[in-house]
Amino acid sequence: MAVIIHTKGDLTLFTIKNYVVVKDLEEAYVLNQKRSNVVLGGIAWLKMGERNIQNAIDLSGLGLDKIEETEEGFEIGSMVTLRELETNTALNSYFNGVIAKSTEHIVGVQFRNCATVGGSIFSRFGFSDILTCLLALDAYVELYKGGVIPLREFADMPKDNDILVKVIIKKDRREVSYLTHRRTATDIPVIACTVARVNHKWQVVLGARPSKAKLLLDKEQMLSNNPTEEEINKFIEYIKENIQFGSNMRASAEFRKHLAGVLCKRGIKEITERKGL
Ligand SMILES: Cc1cc2nc3c(=O)[nH]c(=O)nc-3n(C[C@H](O)[C@H](O)[C@H](O)COP(=O)(O)OP(=O)(O)OC[C@H]3O[C@@H](n4cnc5c(N)ncnc54)[C@H](O)[C@@H]3O)c2cc1C
Repeated sequence: MAVIIHTKGDLTLFTIKNYVVVKDLEEAYVLNQKRSNVVLGGIAWLKMGERNIQNAIDLSGLGLDKIEETEEGFEIGSMVTLRELETNTALNSYFNGVIAKSTEHIVGVQFRNCATVGGSIFSRFGFSDILTCLLALDAYVELYKGGVIPLREFADMPKDNDILVKVIIKKDRREVSYLTHRRTATDIPVIACTVARVNHKWQVVLGARPSKAKLLLDKEQMLSNNPTEEEINKFIEYIKENIQFGSNMRASAEFRKHLAGVLCKRGIKEITERKGL
């Protein structure tokens, strides 16, 4: 029997013909090869569309809703909600708590209790806070068929019909800062910026440009470990020349470019001025 989701008066947002709670990842993968079938995350994004779904693929019986800490890092199942990412104490005791920081402006707590890591990372939205944050960490995705690949590689891959099983983040001693500019506290970002210092080298990720988050490594070591104002200004010019910004209803390319410089400088200073490091 068809399941019709009505969430706005009489407006039908999407229709599901069969709802399949899969017994394993192979079943999910096989079903997902058909265009009319769809994997469900928290359906926070899917419900905004008007798709006719033949088989809705529910992964909730596969134990993918856990964050597991290992010696080397964290393994985050694709069905973990954004709220769990935000509130997980072990995870947020690392990376200067930036994972929580990258989730806290996303709509509201009830929304974050539904939206999942799998839906967020697999979608690779241009405005994604989560992708902007995780790209600055030593992060990987585990795909059912594609295996474990660096998130940096996955971010630039075209979308296919694989299943995102988990996100893996390796523990290291990198220091990180996450900042965004938004028109209102819970709107999508006008620009998002993650700065990281790892082994005395710097890197910056800029998201919501408005296109997909882009990583820039300070390969030429323009920034020293504790950079001077002059070094920072030079690096910001380098960013502005090497990263593309665009215009949309939220902001112009020029404004985004300016904000990128401001947030990048603040991020670097936040890291160098932290006490007790
Ligand atoms: C109104 C609104 C405001 C938002 N604001 C922000 C914001 O400010 N910042 C931000 O970062 N994000 C924002 N988001 C995005 C949100 O955080 C989630 O990323 C989004 O809802 C997708 O997650 P989901 O679990 O709801 O996925 P779903 O809607 O269930 O699925 C999204 C897509 O991912 C696919 N998918 C889901 N799980 C898997 C899997 N395991 N393997 C393969 N494919 C999968 C689905 O088939 C579908 O194509 C916003 C979303 C909405 C609707």
